[in-house]
Amino acid sequence: MNQFRFSRRPDIGEKVRVSFEFFPPKNDEMEARLWDTVTRLEPLKPKFVSVTYGAGGSTRERTARTVKRILNETTLTPAAHMTCVDAARDQVDAVIREFVDFGVTRFVALRGDPAAGVGTIYRPHPDGYANGAELVGALKSAGDFDISVSAYPEKHPESPDFATDIDMLKRKVDNGATRAITQFFFDNDLYERYVERARRAGIYIPIVPGILPVHNFTQVANFSSRCGALVPAWLAERFEGLGNDPQTHALVASAVAAEQVLDLVERGVGDFHFYTMNRADLVFAICHMIGIRSHEAEAAAGSAAA
Ligand code: FAD
Repeated sequence: MNQFRFSRRPDIGEKVRVSFEFFPPKNDEMEARLWDTVTRLEPLKPKFVSVTYGAGGSTRERTARTVKRILNETTLTPAAHMTCVDAARDQVDAVIREFVDFGVTRFVALRGDPAAGVGTIYRPHPDGYANGAELVGALKSAGDFDISVSAYPEKHPESPDFATDIDMLKRKVDNGATRAITQFFFDNDLYERYVERARRAGIYIPIVPGILPVHNFTQVANFSSRCGALVPAWLAERFEGLGNDPQTHALVASAVAAEQVLDLVERGVGDFHFYTMNRADLVFAICHMIGIRSHEAEAAAGSAAA
């Protein structure tokens, strides 16, 4: 085993930038957990934090409330996710205006999943934006925003082939996307091949890997099969037998994610987007291992060394 890969090299933290994704809480208990998470991760100074938008706009108000609170009560820069599902253009445009009115300048623009559920046929609203590319165009014409879009290293399940998938990403870039954030993946070769494909197609925006710390392997395995992400056999083996052992599961999960991120750093990747699932511990530990630390932690390390 190559120990060097796990040792913290002092320059890594300077090269690496992170962003964090949260989802809007459904109840008071979840709200409290989210704010504990935000408070713990804030000192790591992410480039931005994003807040998801539920299927069919079902979380519109909760997304707006969460984004507003981040703007008003933290030093963080929020990005609001938006989807096109079941909404006419004027409804989507109204949501954009609402976000802009309270100070949002970053968006994550998505088509969204079919209202009837993943795996059913997506039917755009007759008066709506048909896909992520059209939504990017609408945002771009509303202002000079920072617009992230999705990318799929293993191609989107609805894409018949990689050429179609990359073509959709190209349309989003042509309409004004600033960066792409990937669906989570566990095989870094797949990500690298996808980025090469995109570059060959003339796509030069950053394609930021989306990293999912495995809080619960069984749930991740189920979810992965629905969204077309491969769960390699080696990953299943790492978590085998840990279903009733949350402590060991968490230790293994943080090692797996740190290993993935460090390997990507070695391949030249500098930006990472973490799907936090509104939980801080694993993300905080992984950030620590790649040298992303709060000033307080750095100061404590400095005085201990002196
Ligand atoms: P698009 O980029 O518009 O399209 C995805 C693929 O479908 C394309 O690659 C294309 O090949 C194919 N396709 C689309 N339209 C057509 C067409 N007309 N003809 C042929 N092929 C077509 N979902 C949420 O509900 N809320 C969120 O907040 C959210 N956040 C996400 C964040 C990230 C970083 C990612 C990766 C996904 C997120 N999703 C979210 C999930 C996303 O909504 C689903 O994956 C959805 O199925 C596709 O949305 P999209 O914007 O990627 O679609």
